[in-house]
Amino acid sequence: MKALEEKILKEGQVRPGNVLKVDGFLNHQMDIKFINEIGKEFKRLFADRQINKILTIEASGIGIACITAQYFDVPVVFAKKSQSINLDGSLYTTKVKSYTHNRTYDVIMAKKFLTRDDHVLVIDDFLANGCAVNGLIEIIKEAGATLEGVGIVIEKGFQPGGQKLREQGINLKSLAIVESMTEDSLTFRANE
Ligand code: 5GP
Repeated sequence: MKALEEKILKEGQVRPGNVLKVDGFLNHQMDIKFINEIGKEFKRLFADRQINKILTIEASGIGIACITAQYFDVPVVFAKKSQSINLDGSLYTTKVKSYTHNRTYDVIMAKKFLTRDDHVLVIDDFLANGCAVNGLIEIIKEAGATLEGVGIVIEKGFQPGGQKLREQGINLKSLAIVESMTEDSLTFRANE
């Protein structure tokens, strides 16, 4: 997505630890008009799939998933990173290593919101090593639901998450794939 690449080049900052900071439009302040275009693009890329639910993980994925869901006219479920008294009934749980916080979280979701009848699109902001997406895929498998695709806003192509998902035959679409990045240069991989 050309406009996304341009926005990353203009506003993104590369931080130590291979972290791309895009908090001016995606991760802290959110540019809703722009994220609306992201939602439309996900709809275009997954138009051939019968999707009845969007799944993401808190926190950064939620806003993007909600705007995207309006184009699919489906609900969003987000996996939670901590136990809460509001979570009752049977739960799916898995562990996810956080890229940006360098710690492992228990990720939790109520079983009643994902069943074998669901056809799921996973949405997240970034793909790095694939831990977050793999945690969500584990939950989908445990539920017996069908994974229709994974939509990522920014994939860091020099990290292994994307390749591992594609090798498993997963229908992964990333709107921008960063090929390389340093403090003063950033390149993209050609994309559909
Ligand atoms: P993974 O689980 O694929 O290793 O990392 C993906 C998760 O870590 C995303 O949900 C995202 O929140 C966070 N993340 C990974 N790399 C970056 C990055 O370069 N910038 C930002 N802002 N978040 C990242």
